[in-house]
Amino acid sequence: MRYQQSQDDQSLVANRRQLFLGAGGFALAGAAAGTVGRAQPMAPGGSPAVDAAVKAAYERYRTLNEGANADYIPALAQVPSSYFGIVVVAPRGKHSSVGDLNVPFSIQSISKVFTLALVMKESGPDAVVNGVGVDATGQAFNSIEAIEQYKGHEMNPLVNPGAIATVGQVTGASPDEVWAKIIGIHNDCAGRTLEVNQPVYKSESDTNQRNRAIGMLMSAYGRFPMDPLVATDLYTRQCSINVTATDLGIMAATLANGGKNPVTGKVVLTPDITSKVLAVMATAGLYDDSGRWLYATGLPGKSGVGGGLIAVSPGKFGIGTFAPPLDKAGNSVRGQKAITDISDALGGNPYLAQQV
Ligand code: GLN
Repeated sequence: MRYQQSQDDQSLVANRRQLFLGAGGFALAGAAAGTVGRAQPMAPGGSPAVDAAVKAAYERYRTLNEGANADYIPALAQVPSSYFGIVVVAPRGKHSSVGDLNVPFSIQSISKVFTLALVMKESGPDAVVNGVGVDATGQAFNSIEAIEQYKGHEMNPLVNPGAIATVGQVTGASPDEVWAKIIGIHNDCAGRTLEVNQPVYKSESDTNQRNRAIGMLMSAYGRFPMDPLVATDLYTRQCSINVTATDLGIMAATLANGGKNPVTGKVVLTPDITSKVLAVMATAGLYDDSGRWLYATGLPGKSGVGGGLIAVSPGKFGIGTFAPPLDKAGNSVRGQKAITDISDALGGNPYLAQQV
């Protein structure tokens, strides 16, 4: 797996922006209007302390030039690396934000969280424990060795074999019916109708032999009832859902708020299921750096190779960030640093108890 991207010449930058934005310049139109199709506006203005923490992190890391865009999905290498957006949303919907808030980018692995939540909601938490597993595999997110080692068991819904198996557990009479449920839970958590980034979907579909192999192998071990290539295609599509930093902040805040979207007020998940989703995020949300991340922040998090990152301080806030360059584990460099600073400033670590 390579995340490194070679230095490209300036002339490619314009093309990149074109491909990245996908159809119809939607992103810029949305950004200019500040809406991106959101039906309900977010409550303005977080507290001065949150505003200050968000702005300080943005200023501190804005020019940090470490890491590289993912390039194993060709379309991701073309996203401008300098994008940086941070959104913190409190359980009542107040938010603080800065930077590139309304630029759409593919959600990638962050989608694994919401399809996991869907399956728990449909079939109960035990279906995931028994049907996929909830232990960290100790291997890279697309490891085939881990499948062989455990014969398709002991996976985690937030790494590819487990994520494809989780898609394979969503019930439906047809792939369209399954897809409607998958996009539906993403929409509910974001509070608006999301769309698939077609260039990214095509780019990954053209190059996802490895994920298809993973799906086939998991299916060979009898880990899910759906046709493995259909499951892998649906998985690829869910990873290509376009979100913005604002969407991610709201999605994270839905998880911070026991499963109730703080902007729309819709109850998407029960508090019980939400707590279990967060536990899985704490276990493997940042792949083989999950332990390091939890040690540093105490926050359940989930990254995507598109440069998105969410983190949740239960009952306190959800954070979404967007900054494409990734470290070697595949996690956004600026996103991790910004969230760590902001959470520290706000006392977000749920393990940090006051002495009495
Ligand atoms: N769609 C990507 C893949 O399957 C998602 C990986 C990621 O975000 N870590 O490779």
